[in-house]
Amino acid sequence: MTLSESELLERFDRIRVWQRGGQRAVHKPLLVLLALGRLWRGEPAAAQFAAIEDDLRKLLEQFGPSSAASSRHYPFWHLRTDGLWTLDGPARILDRPSGATPNLTELRDGQVAGGFAPEVVEMLRRDPLLIPRIARRIVEAHFPESLQQDVLDAVGLDAGEAGIVRAPERPRRDPSFRARVLLAYEYRCCVCGHDLRLGGEVVGLEAAHIRWFQAGGPDIEPNGLALCSLHHKLFDLGVFTVLSQQYTMVVSQHVTGSEQTRNRMLTYHGASLILPQSAGYLPRPEFLAWHTEQVFKTPPREL
Ligand SMILES: [Zn+2]
Repeated sequence: MTLSESELLERFDRIRVWQRGGQRAVHKPLLVLLALGRLWRGEPAAAQFAAIEDDLRKLLEQFGPSSAASSRHYPFWHLRTDGLWTLDGPARILDRPSGATPNLTELRDGQVAGGFAPEVVEMLRRDPLLIPRIARRIVEAHFPESLQQDVLDAVGLDAGEAGIVRAPERPRRDPSFRARVLLAYEYRCCVCGHDLRLGGEVVGLEAAHIRWFQAGGPDIEPNGLALCSLHHKLFDLGVFTVLSQQYTMVVSQHVTGSEQTRNRMLTYHGASLILPQSAGYLPRPEFLAWHTEQVFKTPPREL
């Protein structure tokens, strides 16, 4: 079977859909990115679960919600139904109904291998520059801008080196969002108060979505926080979250570091955000709850 380019892109786009009411569906995208990275480096298209399990676990731990890594066998099994992926292994495992996901041990011991479908591999080998293009589409659909490059780096796909341009048809966020959020917070980081200016221009200050734009978070002030570049990245990685009760910041137990690191983050644990200038801009509880459930690396440190 030969695929056209649009048919190929469409197969990859099918996994971009956010499912189940905003619950983050990162498993399939991260496995696909991992497999794209392998092809990009010229590694074999198919790999045994046991051989890539560790890499997948690390990706899910770093970029997924807290419990994501424990279900790392799910995408390896379920990606099959999207027409992208094939499995190879003993019939006693492969012939099961798709809902009967094998457990980790069965996948390892059964030496089940997975990889892109042959027609997909053929096309990506023929036109390797499609690989970083597809990878860029996937990260843009699933991760906030602050993390997109980190995810690509983690799977060894430097999209910059291949001269990738943004896919033009992607929905773009409202360009006024940044300005409105920064004004709401009077041009300072709501965690640390950073408000450095170079000449008249504020530098290193960004508008973060609480509920990610990629997860349907709206471009409105109650879904925004003004954060310095560091706190923006830490927020998007789930290092800390904000509780709706008194807008208290809580830091993950997974965060450790030296005195200097403590000063950058741990010192704010249990403190309130610097609040916006008007009550109408206060972070809305539903967006904060989404971040705490879907992004924050649980458990929190004790208050
Ligand atoms: Zn800050």
